[in-house]
Amino acid sequence: METTRKYIPRKETVALKTGFYLGHSDHNKAKLTCASLLCREQQQKQLQGKRGSMKFAVKAWSNGGKARTGVLHLGSCPSPLETPVLLLSTRKGLPHFISPDLLPSLPYPGSAFLQVSPLHFLEGPSMKTMSNIGGLHKMVGLHDYAFAAVARDSIQCLPESDSTNKIGASFETPCGRRLIKPAEYLQIISSMRPNIWATLADEVPAWVSNKRNKISVDRTVKWLDECIALSPQGGLVFGAIVGGSNVDERKRCAQEIAKRNVSGFWIGGFGLGESMLERPALLDAVMDSLPEEKPRLVCGLGLPEEVLQGVAAGIDLFDSSYIYNLTLGGFALTFPLDRIETNASGFKSTDMGIDQTKINLKATVYRKDTSPIVASCTCYTCQNHTKAYINHLLNVHEMLAQILLEIHNTHHYLGFFQSIREAIKDGRFEQFRQMFIQTRRDNLAAVAVCA
Ligand SMILES: [Zn+2]
Repeated sequence: METTRKYIPRKETVALKTGFYLGHSDHNKAKLTCASLLCREQQQKQLQGKRGSMKFAVKAWSNGGKARTGVLHLGSCPSPLETPVLLLSTRKGLPHFISPDLLPSLPYPGSAFLQVSPLHFLEGPSMKTMSNIGGLHKMVGLHDYAFAAVARDSIQCLPESDSTNKIGASFETPCGRRLIKPAEYLQIISSMRPNIWATLADEVPAWVSNKRNKISVDRTVKWLDECIALSPQGGLVFGAIVGGSNVDERKRCAQEIAKRNVSGFWIGGFGLGESMLERPALLDAVMDSLPEEKPRLVCGLGLPEEVLQGVAAGIDLFDSSYIYNLTLGGFALTFPLDRIETNASGFKSTDMGIDQTKINLKATVYRKDTSPIVASCTCYTCQNHTKAYINHLLNVHEMLAQILLEIHNTHHYLGFFQSIREAIKDGRFEQFRQMFIQTRRDNLAAVAVCA
């Protein structure tokens, strides 16, 4: 069961965690600081030692389907994570807009798993500096969070297959187009010391030829062998699986990677031009070739329907670039989490411009709206601010608008994942999925009629 941690100042958080809150006199304050620092140092050392450990167990399956829930223990996280789970998208290890002070206000441990691209660090700090600091956890100060390092991040580091060659993979990065060789990639991983990391992949878009697909699989398998042979310090290996839109190549790649000594799987090559209709066959080809006991992470499936498609295929971990894109556009998620079965008959003509999953807070209709984004939402944004205020912040280009929206959207999407997990445990996942998709279609049709 996830809880929302009440926001409390950092010093008191440390004191409460360590149990050394001694009082308010100067003397006691000094004792508190020393005791807290010592305990914090000990905790950090213990967590550092455990960082490379992971345990995963599947707990429940959906009725007759491949959707599953599981429990993931990651070294640096004090609490186990329930899967399917959302990985928070970051820029250089921190969420795009949420500050570390507000991060604990999100449901924990659901928000404790962060995704980072090693390519963000090509422009600095240097690998030596990061290594001397003690790795990513220490550098950004998030000791009880877990990090998954994946080269592609679906926001700023997208694969550039035309420029990829047998030496390395090409990416558009914040510092221009760069060719990344496996050895260079592993050097960055070694200095970051994430909990888990995905091997380098040659991802291709959906429209490439079968010949190019075959080459991408051969290269990805070869680079995985090179990555494992180089064995960087710390972190568990997730083998990258590619194959584009070719079912046979997807299967071949999955079978080859499953033979290797990896702790889990990173499924790449999605969200690169394939249609929703061709995706189930591709996902099935991969999933049927993988052992059940290891976790599977995917990038590029972000929309609620895509997440449901991935969960139905048996994926456990998802990236959250969708949240980032929503937030940048001024959108807030509003679909019901406890009652997905709302239908189009409840649709009102005043709801113009929304599709019943999200609202655009830039719209003038919210200029005088003094209600929170979602009345029942317990997030920091909905508890403290109104739609009218966020509409104003967006209109005057204040970054606080994105901060508040990212908090709400992340909180809401974490709630969506919790609903998915509950549906699987209750044996009604397929019903939940079909109802969600049908409700969305009905509402879109109603919007079209009103327009
Ligand atoms: Zn909210």
